[in-house]
Amino acid sequence: MGGGARRGAGARRRARLIVRPFDPAAPEQAITGFRLDDEGHWVAELACGHRQHVRHEPPMQSRPWVLTEAGRAAHLGTTLRCMRCLLGEPPA
Ligand SMILES: [Zn+2]
Repeated sequence: MGGGARRGAGARRRARLIVRPFDPAAPEQAITGFRLDDEGHWVAELACGHRQHVRHEPPMQSRPWVLTEAGRAAHLGTTLRCMRCLLGEPPA
């Protein structure tokens, strides 16, 4: 038995393209709370009434803190740029 076993095609990376244009003109809004959506992703509730997913999907978005209660608690009151505010969408 020799070594050199190759990893199969299963090692292929998922190349999901998430286009998330971050506009610096978007106002920063404080996080007032967190909730889980139907798919088990964490959603931050913002002071403006909008919600924003805070996914942990490295390397695109590395937010290991969102997976722990202590991490989320530590981020209450921090801000996220709210594109929905920039676009003038009414709060959900
Ligand atoms: Zn907003």
